[in-house]
Amino acid sequence: MKLILLGPPGAGKGTQAQRLQDRYGLRQLSTGDMLRAAVASGSELGLTAKGIMERGELVPDGLIVGLIEDRIGQADCASGFILDGFPRTVAQAEALDRMLGSRGWKLDKVVEMDVDEAALTARIVGRFSCGKCGTGYHDVFKKAAKAGLCDVCGGSEFTRRKDDNAETVTARMAAYRSQTAPLLPYYAARGVLAKVDGMAAMDDVYRQIESVLGKS
Ligand code: AMP
Repeated sequence: MKLILLGPPGAGKGTQAQRLQDRYGLRQLSTGDMLRAAVASGSELGLTAKGIMERGELVPDGLIVGLIEDRIGQADCASGFILDGFPRTVAQAEALDRMLGSRGWKLDKVVEMDVDEAALTARIVGRFSCGKCGTGYHDVFKKAAKAGLCDVCGGSEFTRRKDDNAETVTARMAAYRSQTAPLLPYYAARGVLAKVDGMAAMDDVYRQIESVLGKS
């Protein structure tokens, strides 16, 4: 199965993609995670992307498309994947169509995570994750059972994304509205778009996605 999770920053794409990956063995492909890894490694791509990401703007299509094209060609993607954070522009969506078409693959579903934008800033500012296993937490909405210790692996080092601050979030939302939201009619016209209520509780959102995928 080839799936896209689409929604503004803070809609919960990463959380849901991770659960789908664990449950169905679909590979989560997060361009944001790939770029953060590139920044951390100090690669040429990372050096180019760093400032753009800190400003909350989009990294040029050509760089992102190359990243995804390399990734979906790898063996672990053969049984399916969930795109989380890609495509983000119509040009990226067109490039994805070409990539899938050339392999004889098709997109099964695009799941729109419908959210109240006003609530997103609070969701994003306050996020942090375990530095060891990546489990996500929130200062208000999802605290660890024991403060300072990861519920999953017991790790005690946590990280916060540099772009999860109020100012950058405003720019990321603006980029979503102007460059990514046009993908909704793009995929609706292709008959693959389905909407779930991203404001529901996490488990409920997950069940809605399963139901859209015909897996409930
Ligand atoms: P995310 O983790 O998906 O919120 O992405 C973090 C940042 O990485 C974004 O604000 C962009 O600067 C960059 N980024 C991630 N995915 C893409 C993409 N598909 N196209 C352009 N920029 C991206």
